[in-house]
Amino acid sequence: VQVIETVDGFRKALDADRTQGRTVGLVPTMGSLHAGHRSLIERSAADNDVTAVTVFVNPLQFAPTEDLAAYPRDLDRDVALAAEAGAAFVFAPSVEEMYPTGPAPLTTVTVATISEPLEGRTRPTHFAGVATVVAKLFAIAGQCRAYFGEKDYQQLAVIRRMAADLSFPVEVVGCPTVREPDGLALSSRNVYLTAEERAVAPRLHEALQLGKRRIEKDGERDPRTVAHAMQQYIEAGKEPRFILDYAEVVDAADLATPTRLFGDVRLLVAARLGKARLIDNLGVRAR
Ligand code: AMP
Repeated sequence: VQVIETVDGFRKALDADRTQGRTVGLVPTMGSLHAGHRSLIERSAADNDVTAVTVFVNPLQFAPTEDLAAYPRDLDRDVALAAEAGAAFVFAPSVEEMYPTGPAPLTTVTVATISEPLEGRTRPTHFAGVATVVAKLFAIAGQCRAYFGEKDYQQLAVIRRMAADLSFPVEVVGCPTVREPDGLALSSRNVYLTAEERAVAPRLHEALQLGKRRIEKDGERDPRTVAHAMQQYIEAGKEPRFILDYAEVVDAADLATPTRLFGDVRLLVAARLGKARLIDNLGVRAR
């Protein structure tokens, strides 16, 4: 695997491969790679001739109160994992390289409406930060397929829409969430959990399964009733407890809350547990 630190070097490397007729897969990450990232890299390596993993902790998507400084970083480990999973390139630019005009670019990308509910309510500037850095990565990488996890479902929706609205020559591919055996979704932020917190963390995923049963088995079609059941479940249980941010049931396509559940819906939850803020989601079809 070749590690590239400059925008120019990365662009030239992918251009050279495409000139030779090779297809390119892009896997954008913030590093601290785990089996969830690995599944994206392996999928890209299976679909494309050349896979590039990007490792960049994007300051623009963190609010001043969030964990930018504490975010786990280990480039050597990431390079080894990316190589093992089949990547040809790791693009690991510095903040100055990605934001050459300074830490507050005048040009940013905002995706209206779908950025606003759910994560957007607690993190109002987050998706503009994400959309901006991904737009830059797409502009640098050029024609490719780009792989994103359903773990960050709203992010996937925002990026799909951004790529379509701005005509990037990029096919956005969503990949299933990789979980621990007890159901906890893999996340770089799980390292913040103490042993006690880790023991109760699967409750988030259990709440989603509870919501899914309410819809599929009990035939519940009021999104508020399902959401309420998930909220109660997350806030109950033994110590240490979650501090709920949201538990909602929305239309899978536009992320709006319908009056009645019909077709493809998405259950999404977010809650703080100790120092970690955890998110998870599940797709359900309401027939
Ligand atoms: P991050 O490094 O957290 O920004 O994530 C980089 C990419 O990996 C995003 O597209 C995430 O959705 C995806 N990802 C993170 N965790 C998982 C997981 N447990 N399963 C599948 N994809 C994941």
